[in-house]
Amino acid sequence: MTSSRLNLVLVSTPIGALGSGRGGGVELTLSSLLRGLTERGHRLRLVAAQGSQLPRGCESVQLITAEGNDQPSWQHADADEAMLIPRNGLMPAMWNRALQEADGADAVLNFGYDWLPLWITPHVRPPLFHLISMGSVAAVMEEAVEALAGWDQRRLAFHTSRQAADFTLPNAPRVVGNGFDLSGYEVCLDGAGPLGWAGRIAPEKGLEDAAAAAAALGERLLVWGLREDEDYALSVEASVPPGTLDWRGFLPTRALQAELGRCRALINTPKWNEAYGNVVVEALACGVPVVAYDRGGPGELICSGTTGFLVEPDDVAALTQALRDVMVIDRSACRAWVEQNADQAVFARRVETWISEGLMPLP
Ligand code: UDP
Repeated sequence: MTSSRLNLVLVSTPIGALGSGRGGGVELTLSSLLRGLTERGHRLRLVAAQGSQLPRGCESVQLITAEGNDQPSWQHADADEAMLIPRNGLMPAMWNRALQEADGADAVLNFGYDWLPLWITPHVRPPLFHLISMGSVAAVMEEAVEALAGWDQRRLAFHTSRQAADFTLPNAPRVVGNGFDLSGYEVCLDGAGPLGWAGRIAPEKGLEDAAAAAAALGERLLVWGLREDEDYALSVEASVPPGTLDWRGFLPTRALQAELGRCRALINTPKWNEAYGNVVVEALACGVPVVAYDRGGPGELICSGTTGFLVEPDDVAALTQALRDVMVIDRSACRAWVEQNADQAVFARRVETWISEGLMPLP
């Protein structure tokens, strides 16, 4: 518990209800932060889409729901894409509620990757803080992040330095990493299992390269995740011998970690500047080494040679070779890294420091 309790309004992603999986990694980030900040004695209210479920252990959080049409995701935007808000949009509905709730709160903490909350920040009285969940995907968003940084960069935090490097910032970025409830991840020290891959089934996640490496080894690849892009999923399936891919569906964390933990290695093959890479850390938490492209967050999270291997991005032959070598990795070192660097309590403390320092008057 901290000496100064904060009264915070947290604003979820305007894409899907919390618990649906449609918000991707943001859902897990938000859940562990709700738990971590609650444990530290802060008062929390959460604004989220109707149908959202409060995660286990967060019963004291007040849930405020808003209704509307989902915000289109920036994940697949072109560089010159315009900012669009659908009619009866969920995002403005959520911010309407958030700004009402902000009266009397110390700060509002935004988890959505959207232009509007960034833009309004210098124009509203409540202090708004933004945990940026992606790298730069479109110029209009990049400019919004950079404009806010020019006004007061203390209002922004990033998951990794590699993600933050997408933006031109006046000062060194505030990097808060991410956090996980490690009681929910069981360590499995038996490293003789199959190969695994987890993530949204979408082109920026590069499943085809992991599939090609598994095929080169003549092995099966277990795949967990939401089939966001069905055509893409079918094209990956067609690119490897039948039976290579074992589609396991989208599993809740508890079931996911139980299956993931039995893997010999997790393969992570992002084609974009992944902001963090939750699945990388979730695998490590189970004692599973990760073999990944040295790109984006995963390139910063994996200690090559200790918790897995990093290889040249897009080099499937190097990926395949690293998978042959993965048995040398000590699985308990993988878990130890997560305990030291990505436990939810560690993450909550970093976020608390970020907000507390950002609330101080500018020198
Ligand atoms: N995930 C899950 N069940 C699955 C597969 C994935 O809950 O079957 C979750 C996983 O725990 C992670 C998120 O989906 O938190 C994916 O996050 P990541 O940061 O890896 O990628 P994003 O989707 O945010 O780009």
